[in-house]
Amino acid sequence: MSKYVESVMAGLKARNANEPEFLQAAEEVLSTLDPVLKANPQYEKNAILERIVEPERVVMFRVPWVDDKGIIRVNRGYRIQQNSAIGPYKGGLRFDPSVNLSVLKFLAFEQVFKNSLTTLPMGGGKGGSDFNPKQSPHTPGKRCSDAEVMRFCQSFMTELFRHIGPDTDVPAGDMNVGGREIGYLFGQYKRLANEWTGVLTGKGMSFGGSLIRPEATGYGDVYFAENMLAVKGETLEGKNCVISGSGNVATYAAEKLMQLGAKVLTLSDRSGTILAKDGITEKMLKDIMVLKTVKRGELAEFAKKTKAVKFFAGVNSWQVTDKIDCAFPCARQNELNGKDAEYLLKHGCTLVGEGANMPSTPDAIEQFVGAKIMYSPGKASNAGGVATSGLEMSQNSERLSWTREEVDAKLKGIMKSIHDNSYEAAAKYGQKGNYVMGANIAGFVKVADAMVAQGVC
Ligand code: NAP
Repeated sequence: MSKYVESVMAGLKARNANEPEFLQAAEEVLSTLDPVLKANPQYEKNAILERIVEPERVVMFRVPWVDDKGIIRVNRGYRIQQNSAIGPYKGGLRFDPSVNLSVLKFLAFEQVFKNSLTTLPMGGGKGGSDFNPKQSPHTPGKRCSDAEVMRFCQSFMTELFRHIGPDTDVPAGDMNVGGREIGYLFGQYKRLANEWTGVLTGKGMSFGGSLIRPEATGYGDVYFAENMLAVKGETLEGKNCVISGSGNVATYAAEKLMQLGAKVLTLSDRSGTILAKDGITEKMLKDIMVLKTVKRGELAEFAKKTKAVKFFAGVNSWQVTDKIDCAFPCARQNELNGKDAEYLLKHGCTLVGEGANMPSTPDAIEQFVGAKIMYSPGKASNAGGVATSGLEMSQNSERLSWTREEVDAKLKGIMKSIHDNSYEAAAKYGQKGNYVMGANIAGFVKVADAMVAQGVC
């Protein structure tokens, strides 16, 4: 690390000592930027690093709501508006008990570079709450009812609405925020603002949503993998793939991998991992999608009813089989550690395509980069979701809807651009095939140039 990067990191650590995830994300990006900072002294002169790590605005608010028993509950809501140099803030909302300032700041920071990579004019933001829709506050082992989730969403939006807008900040879904939650949030925004506008993305198809948006992050992750393989003259056909998670990103990544002839061996959730030695079938995947999004159940239940799968309670997907060509971490941050990386490399894994945000720990990343395998960081390979949100914004502005084929073709084109830009940026600085460095540099340069042009703000 150069002296400039070292001094910015030292300042950041001193000011944000209680934010480990944010510091991890900042160090991961800043530590790869030396060559571009050296070639562009105007970035240091304009204090770009000092400014880019500091959110433009952080909003933190009370979210009071009434549960089904009539008891008043209070959660904490957040919106991090990280950077608007190249467009309105854009990024998802996460509802999970693990949500805190550090987690959301790491996600907002990553989002700045990811959105820049999409080639669309979107700044970076992120938000959410420590609300847990998966655990009722009054009945252990039960989920919140739809009515409770609706009342929570309405209260959350009652404060958030004054900070967002179609040209200011356009939130979307993330963990535990899917079609149901976006619908409730959108309904409340519309009442409060008294206008129908594309202020949220991931909306239902009957009120301004885009075809392929639900599939986009998982599909995009697989398209990125296809691009990495194409450089080596390979395809996904016949590859053994392990996936973590069984939510939005994981299930659509699985669907696309299967369509392209790969074998999906695992999926996971908080209860554990299922392993299908002969590959998860289309029918199994359909049942899992219904289980997770409609019945809101656990893979443990699925495993009990399905003879063709083996279940590993409380374990993630990385070390349950010894036949691995590709790994797709699609659940959450820091879910793949150094030991997992060692196991994957030892058992033949040559491609890791991150669908989740920051799923690999720093020591795992070091091993993947060191081994020179095809490793794509989430900010590049999971950018298909936000890119398609950008396409939803365009359709809302133009008051029209593109077909499934049109959106999918645009998504494919965007994933290829992200791949090629990352590949070329790494090659330009002598690190051909290092997608970590390539994605960070390609994402950074566009934002940094816009910040220099806009003066000190
Ligand atoms: P999701 O639908 O809520 O699915 C999350 C999955 O991760 C679920 O299977 C969940 O298990 C599992 N999980 C969460 N916390 C866990 C824990 N502590 N231990 C074990 N498993 C855990 O969320 P998603 O939208 O797929 O997002 C997944 C990742 O992709 C996140 O990092 C998100 O930020 C990132 N991402 C999402 C999008 C998008 O468009 N959705 C775009 C870019 C990046 P349970 O079902 O048991 O809770």
